[in-house]
Amino acid sequence: MIEGTEKTILFDTGTQPQILMHNVGVLGVDLKKVDEIVISHGHDDHTGGLTAVLEKNPNVTVFFPVSFPPEFGRRVESLKAEARTRREF
Ligand SMILES: [Zn+2]
Repeated sequence: MIEGTEKTILFDTGTQPQILMHNVGVLGVDLKKVDEIVISHGHDDHTGGLTAVLEKNPNVTVFFPVSFPPEFGRRVESLKAEARTRREF
């Protein structure tokens, strides 16, 4: 979680929703403050908690590599968030 002066960015979402939500509770993170989520690459250990975050806060733009399958963007949009691809690092 990167808390900047203008935006709060969550970088990857971990393996499982249970682990992410546990850490959110322990660290006292307010997921409603997240503006953007950046997914680094397409392994499950980076995307597993995404649905749980978007269920708490769909008012988020999710950036992910262009190599992701189209279903990924559709899943993000079905959770009412904005999906945007970006070039690989
Ligand atoms: Zn990986």
